Amino acid sequence: MPKYAVILVDLLNDFITGPISTERALTIVEPNRRLIDAAHEKNIPVIYANDCHTPEIDHEFKVWGPHAVEGTKGAEVVPELTPTDKDYIVPKKRYSAFYGTSLEPLLRELGVDTVIITGWQADCCCRHTAADAFFRGYDIVVPRETTDTDTLENYKAGLAYLKKNYGADICDLDDLLARL
Ligand code: ZN
Repeated sequence: MPKYAVILVDLLNDFITGPISTERALTIVEPNRRLIDAAHEKNIPVIYANDCHTPEIDHEFKVWGPHAVEGTKGAEVVPELTPTDKDYIVPKKRYSAFYGTSLEPLLRELGVDTVIITGWQADCCCRHTAADAFFRGYDIVVPRETTDTDTLENYKAGLAYLKKNYGADICDLDDLLARL
C-alpha cells in the first residue's frame, strides 16, 4: 500500500475565480473537495502548496503579471477548499512546490512515497511540482478531474507529458478514491 500525500497546487482565489483564471478552473473545485474529504477520512496528509508572491518585485510577475500576492485575498485558498487545522500549508514563490520550500523535509517526516498532485495548472505549476517529485524519487498520481489548464489541448498535452516523462499514474478520481 503506497504511503500517500495529497499536494494541492494553487487552488487560490486569483487562479480559480480571479484575474488569471479561465472558466475551466472552476470545474476542478468540486473534484478536489471530494479528494480532500476522502484523504481526511483515511488520514492521508493534505498539503496546500500556495503561491505567495512578494509584492511588486516578484520574478514571476514578468511572465504572468501580478497574482497571488502575499497577504491579499487573491493568495487565499478558495472558500470551498479552505484548509483545516490538520492540513499543511507550504507557501511557494515559483511554479514548483519544492523550489525553496519546506515540502521535501515535510514529505520525509510524513514517510510519504507517493504524491497525489492536483490543482492549477496541469501544464505549469503541477508539471514543475511533478518534475521535482520525480527527481526526488516519489511516485506520482494525478486524478484527471482534479487539474486543468487554459485550454483542452494544453490540458491533454500536460497530462500526457506527466505520464511520458515522470511515469505519472493519470487516473479517474473515482478509481483513486476506491484504492485509498
Ligand atoms: Zn505564481
